[in-house]
Amino acid sequence: MQFINSIRWRQPQNAGFRPDGSCRQGTPMKSDAELERLRSVESTLQLALDIVSDGIWEWDRLTGTVKRSARWYLMLGYEPFSLPETVDTWLNLIHPDDHPATMAAMQRYLDGEASLFSARYRFRRADGHYIWLHDQARFVEYDQHGEPIRMLGAHQDIHRQVQAEEEQRRHQAHLERLNRELEQKVEERTRALADTNAALAQQLALSREQAGTDYLTGLYNRRHFDQILSQRWHRDEQHPSAIVLLDLDYFKAVNDRHGHQTGDRLLQAIPELLRPHLRRQDLLARWGGEEFILWLPDTDATDALRLSERLRHTLAEARFCEDIHLTGSFGVAVCRPGDLLEQVIQRADACLYRAKGERNKVVGED
Ligand code: GH3
Ligand code: MG
Ligand code: MG
Repeated sequence: MQFINSIRWRQPQNAGFRPDGSCRQGTPMKSDAELERLRSVESTLQLALDIVSDGIWEWDRLTGTVKRSARWYLMLGYEPFSLPETVDTWLNLIHPDDHPATMAAMQRYLDGEASLFSARYRFRRADGHYIWLHDQARFVEYDQHGEPIRMLGAHQDIHRQVQAEEEQRRHQAHLERLNRELEQKVEERTRALADTNAALAQQLALSREQAGTDYLTGLYNRRHFDQILSQRWHRDEQHPSAIVLLDLDYFKAVNDRHGHQTGDRLLQAIPELLRPHLRRQDLLARWGGEEFILWLPDTDATDALRLSERLRHTLAEARFCEDIHLTGSFGVAVCRPGDLLEQVIQRADACLYRAKGERNKVVGED
């Protein structure tokens, strides 16, 4: 009975049927014959309910007694009718953790917010183990003032179903954990692979560098250019030849505006742009940073200047990625008999320095 005191009391809106024919004020009373017929109908219905459920119970609010069917006791492993027929028996068997939710469900019914009392909770069996039950009930009888006086409920053993649901949840959680672990592993492997790739790329750049190739443009690097030319220098010194130094204008600003990566792509595009104007025997190399060097064998000053002018024009007319506009300054020097390679390069550099005075310009020796 104590639960009924702790619960706020109000007649549900949706009260269900009234087997004894009791009524709210103003409603005519049923005859004895009619009442008898209704009671017979109710006991038939109770019997049917007992068959389809795992135990029914009936609470008489006036006496405080709760009668439970034999099936109800058997479901819980008790001798039939061996427990006190009180509300406390119910309250004592509910798992403490499920108590608040069950009472709240009852309150919702009493407040008229639910059309019936319906709750899932754990219930203690005679052997001390808990099983999951679904309990559903509603008032089936009211006094002449409309106050509820009898509630009928049915228990359904849903233990297996709840266990299956829990097993399903555990299984799902296990799968999700496995999935997360797998994703983590894939991520780790991907990262390791990326690291390996980066290391390989670095190694490749280093090997290329060591092999004399500039990793970015694929051109000969300065060291290799020096090596090749030093070998040829003595052999071909009788021929006229020219050195052209090209330095891109304002390349730092290009980097600053478009990013270093774009700057790299522009540097990579330079050989493709210049090569169509060069002969097979001409030697193009990356001198360093945004500077390139050209050795033009069998070429006099006039041809070297003409070619440089064409290269300057080609560069100035080109549009690179993101519609970038580039220009270059050119310094041109020709070999004189007895010149060392370094001397020719120094003179080309001096011309380049003068070209930088205007930029987008070719300057040759006076
Ligand atoms: P100037 O017209 O006087 O030659 O100006 P500049 O900005 O081209 O010359 P500066 O010497 O001030 O700067 C050269 C710039 O070239 C600085 C550097 O950021 C850039 N640079 C050099 N090597 C590389 C490279 O490998 N990649 C990229 N993206 N930029 C480079
Ligand atoms: Mg420079
Ligand atoms: Mg520059």
